[in-house]
Amino acid sequence: MAIPEHKEIRELARRFLEEARPVLAAHEEKEAFPWPLAQKMGDLGFLGVFAPEELGGAGLDFWAYVALLEELGGYASLRSILSVQQSLVLTPLLTFGTEGQKRRYVPRLARGEILGAYALTEPEAGSDAGSLRTRAYRNGDHYVLEGQKTFISHANVAEVFLVFAKTDPERGNRGITAFLVEREDGVRTTPLKGKLGLRAADTGMVFLEGVRVPRDRVLGGEGEGFKVALATLDTGRVSLAAGAVGLMQRALGLSLRYAQERRQFGRPIAAFQLVQAHLAEMKLDLEASRLLTYQAVAKKLQGERYTLEASMAKLFASEAANRVAYRAVQIHGGYGFFEEYEVARLYRDARILTLYEGTSEIQKLVIGAHLTGIRAFGGHGEA
Ligand SMILES: Cc1cc2nc3c(=O)[nH]c(=O)nc-3n(C[C@H](O)[C@H](O)[C@H](O)COP(=O)(O)OP(=O)(O)OC[C@H]3O[C@@H](n4cnc5c(N)ncnc54)[C@H](O)[C@@H]3O)c2cc1C
Repeated sequence: MAIPEHKEIRELARRFLEEARPVLAAHEEKEAFPWPLAQKMGDLGFLGVFAPEELGGAGLDFWAYVALLEELGGYASLRSILSVQQSLVLTPLLTFGTEGQKRRYVPRLARGEILGAYALTEPEAGSDAGSLRTRAYRNGDHYVLEGQKTFISHANVAEVFLVFAKTDPERGNRGITAFLVEREDGVRTTPLKGKLGLRAADTGMVFLEGVRVPRDRVLGGEGEGFKVALATLDTGRVSLAAGAVGLMQRALGLSLRYAQERRQFGRPIAAFQLVQAHLAEMKLDLEASRLLTYQAVAKKLQGERYTLEASMAKLFASEAANRVAYRAVQIHGGYGFFEEYEVARLYRDARILTLYEGTSEIQKLVIGAHLTGIRAFGGHGEA
């Protein structure tokens, strides 16, 4: 696998992080969205890395995006801005959008002038996303949307929402349609506070109460919404895997430094075999996750279906990140239990990775279905 290193963008990300760290920490503490950092990321071109230059993007390849996800992966609230904007909103727009839709949204999203959100999950439709209840009724040259979405990243900060709604409930997953809905159309949102991790990331509920959306805002055709949702999640899962790699990298780096500095029994704790065993397992989890992630990206870039590889990378890397964060706290001893030490945040932030964009259980069912040809979900589909 020949992988472009993208040293420059990695270096740019590291310089950005030097300044961003204290600002992010202050926002994490207040559970506030870090607007100044989101704007800076937009200015640096981080929010449209692989979007074409003629549409306001940086025009780089997908590997550059992976590099950025790795660099920012240790700061999950920032990594989340990258991945929601690009994997969950720009990717479906670039893949399924009409020329008019691309021109209307991509430049502003890619430059970070506006943020986007991906609104699939509902209170009664999580893993079983196909059972969503939000309705879209056709009314002349408009649709009228009725329903509510929950746990939506960027709900309170986005200007454009990719909303999945049923246009034809009789047709199951084939009756789902994706809509580009603007806040100005009358979307109401409320914040969801008190998250275990990702404390500076915005999460909220989205209420669609008689929201009128013109027909030309259907993304990918009527009845094609579930296809759009799942194709988007393939990219989303790969980007979460890359973010998990970044989180592990940060946790290992901090742990190595700490193990060399902290002395007990007259020597650095790094000199103890059991501490080295932790470090070795961390390194193994990190590198195995990276290889699975790169394998999924390589297949995606060959233009082949990569659902299996994306699920494997996401499952392994997200579980591995939790193991690694656990070991990082263990190496830090009691100090690791205090927020003053960054590993405490990494431990909290790692937890989301096995939950969203398909829980670990759902990834196993996706992998199992590929192996056996039998879908064991029991319901309509999967998120
Ligand atoms: C911080 C955060 C941000 C999020 N951002 C977004 C977003 O931007 N857009 C969006 O649309 N959604 C978002 N989500 C929602 C997320 O994708 C869902 O939480 C996830 O899909 C799981 O759904 P659920 O929470 O309803 O859990 P449930 O589906 O109720 O699952 C509960 C448990 O049951 C298990 N389970 C369910 N079905 C099966 C099965 N068939 N076999 C075995 N086990 C099963 C699950 O694995 C899990 O362990 C976000 C969630 C969080 C917490």
